[in-house]
Amino acid sequence: MTTDNAIHDSRQTLGFQAEVKQLLHLMIHSLYSNREIFLRELVSNASDACDRLRFAAIAEPSLLPAGEELAIEVSYDKDARTITVSDNGIGMTREELIEHLGTIAKSGTREFFAQLTGDQRTDSQLIGQFGVGFYSSFIVADRVTVVSRRAGAPAEAATSWESDGGGEFTVEPAARSERGTDVVLHLKDGNDELLSGWKLKSILTHYSDHIATPIRMHKEEWDKDSNQLRRTQELETVNRASALWTRPKSEISDEQYKEFYKHVSHDFGDPLAWTHNRVEGRNEYAQLLYIPKRAPFDLWDRKRTHGLKLYVRRVFIMDDAEQLLPSYLRFTRGIVDSSDLPLNVSREILQESRDVKAIREGCAKRVLSLLEELAQNRAEDYAGFWSEFGAVLKEGIGEDPANAERIGRLLRFASTAADGGKLTSLAEYVGRMKAGQSAIYYVTAESIEAARSSPHLEIFRKKGVEVLLLTDRVDEWMLSFLTEFEGKPLNSVAKGDLALDALDDEQDQEDKRKAQDEYQDLVARIKEALGDRVADVRITLRLTESPACVVVDKDAMSAHLQRMLKASGHDAAPSKPILELNPHHPLVQRLQADPADLGEWAHLLLEQAILAEGGQLDDPASFVKRVNALLLAGGVKGAG
Ligand code: ADP
Ligand code: MG
Repeated sequence: MTTDNAIHDSRQTLGFQAEVKQLLHLMIHSLYSNREIFLRELVSNASDACDRLRFAAIAEPSLLPAGEELAIEVSYDKDARTITVSDNGIGMTREELIEHLGTIAKSGTREFFAQLTGDQRTDSQLIGQFGVGFYSSFIVADRVTVVSRRAGAPAEAATSWESDGGGEFTVEPAARSERGTDVVLHLKDGNDELLSGWKLKSILTHYSDHIATPIRMHKEEWDKDSNQLRRTQELETVNRASALWTRPKSEISDEQYKEFYKHVSHDFGDPLAWTHNRVEGRNEYAQLLYIPKRAPFDLWDRKRTHGLKLYVRRVFIMDDAEQLLPSYLRFTRGIVDSSDLPLNVSREILQESRDVKAIREGCAKRVLSLLEELAQNRAEDYAGFWSEFGAVLKEGIGEDPANAERIGRLLRFASTAADGGKLTSLAEYVGRMKAGQSAIYYVTAESIEAARSSPHLEIFRKKGVEVLLLTDRVDEWMLSFLTEFEGKPLNSVAKGDLALDALDDEQDQEDKRKAQDEYQDLVARIKEALGDRVADVRITLRLTESPACVVVDKDAMSAHLQRMLKASGHDAAPSKPILELNPHHPLVQRLQADPADLGEWAHLLLEQAILAEGGQLDDPASFVKRVNALLLAGGVKGAG
C-alpha cells in the first residue's frame, strides 16, 4: 500500500475487478424480484463491523471506551430518495475501502465466474451459491456512497467511496465525526415504496431480527395537522438485539434460524438442516450448526478456510475457526459460543486447548446425529446432502476412527442392484446378500460406465451377486480404512481369490478343476511368453464374455489406485498383475487347439485385459502393431 500523501489527499477513480463488474451486472438483472435482500446484506456487514470492533478492543481497549454502545441505524430521506445504513463498528481505511468494495477477496473467484453461462436464470442460481454481499446495494440504487472512518483514526482521516455500479468507483478524503461507516443508497426509479419507515421496519424484522447488535430507527408519529407521519428524534430498537443462540429453541422460528444461517454463512440460499444445543458440564458452550443445501464453489479449494464462527461469552472472536470441527465436516457452518475459553484466545491456543478438543468432539457428534436423522426421516434431503458433500464425509472413515462406524452407516454407493442413479447404504447391501455370500464386493473405476462394464463383474452378474460401483477419487483411500462393515469384509472384485467359491455349486467346482487340468500346458506357455510382465497366469471361471482379465493379489495395490497415484505424480512401484484366462472363450480355445503366434497372442490378451478395465498401456504403439499383424495373419478368421 502506498503512503504517498499526494494520493491520499486526492480524489482517485479506480476500476472494479473484472469479476465485480460481472457480478454487478448479473445481480442488477437477475435479483430484482428479491431486491429486499440488500438491507439484510448491509445490516449483516454492519453487525460484523461491530463484532470486529468489540474483538479488537479486547487487545486495545481504547478503541471502544467503556460504556459506549455499538449499534446500527437505518434511516431514509424521502426528498433526497436515499436510504442510509450506519454503524459505529470498526470502519474502513481508504485502502480497505478500495480492497473490500472493489474486489472479491475469495480465492477461486475467477474460476467461479468462468462457469457462468450468460443465461440469467442459471447464473442467478450460481450467484446464490456465491453469496451477494455489499454489491447487492446496486439492485435498488443507481449510486452508492460509503463514508467510513476506521476505529482509532482521526476524524479528518475518513474516506468517501462512491460508485454508480458501472465499471468504476471513486475514493476521496472525507470527514466523519465518529468512527464507523455510513452506506447511503440513492434509489433507482421505481423503488420509492422502500422510502417508508413501516416498510423498512418490516424488512428488518423479517430478515434481521436475529442480529445481536441493536438496529435503531427513528420513531414516527402521526401528525394531525399535516395528516402525515412525522419523524421524531426518538430512536427505537426494531430487532430483538440478543444473540439468537441464547434464546430458547421454542422461541425461535424456522424463518429466524434460516436468516441467521444466511448471516453467518454468507450463503444466499436456505440451509438443509440445523442443530441447536446448549452443552453443560465440564465444558460449557452453545452450538448452532447448519448443513448447507449446496456446496460452495470453492469446497475443494485447499487455500479456502473453513470452520465455525467462534464466540466467547457472546463476544465474537473469529471467523473460520477450523479447530472446532474435524476437517471431514468442513461443509458445516454456524457458531460455537464457549463459556470457558479466555477472550484473548488465539488460533495457536485453539490448536492445543483441551476445551477445544472437547468442543470439536461434541460438534462432530451433533453433526453426525443430524445426518443420521436426515438419513432416517428425510431420505430425499439426505440424498441431496450426499450428492453435494458425500465425498467429503468419506474422508471421515480414515480421519476419525472413533466415529468411523457411524460414518460407515451414512455412506451411500451406486450399485449393480440399484438402477436409475439410486444409491444404496452398506446396511441395505448386507440385507440383500445371498445365502453363502460372506463379503461385500465393490469395483473402483474412473466413471460409473467404466465400473459397470468392467470384465470383473461378469461372474457376479452370472451369479446374481451385487457389486458396489465406486468412482470418487477418495474411495480407494477410504477403502484402506473401511475393511469391513458389520463383520463383513469389503472385497475388491479385481483382487484374486474372490471367496466366491462358497457360492459355487458342485458342478462349478468340478468344471473349474477340469479346466485347470485341461489348460495347464497353455497357461504355462503363456506365462513364459509374458515373462516379467505378469506375476502369474491362471484359469478363471469368473469371466463369461471376455477372454481374459487382470487381477491383483489380495494385498497388492489395486490397478485403479496405481493409476491415480501415477496421475498425481507419485512413483508407485507397480505391482504386476495376474492374468486370468476364460477357458470358455473361443480365442482361448483356439490357442489351445493351434498355438501359432502364441507369444503375440499372449501379449495381446494381457493388453486388452488392461484396456478393458480402464488402464493404459505403457507402449500403445506395439499393441497396435500386434493387432494389425494378427489381423493380417488371419487370426480372427480362425477364432470362430
Ligand atoms: P462479506 O460480508 O461476505 O465479506 P460483503 O460484500 O458483504 O462480503 O462485504 C465485503 C467486505 O467489505 C466485508 O468483508 C468487510 O471487510 C467490508 N465491509 C462491508 N461493509 C462494512 C462495514 N459496514 N464496516 C466495515 N467493513 C465493511
Ligand atoms: Mg456481507
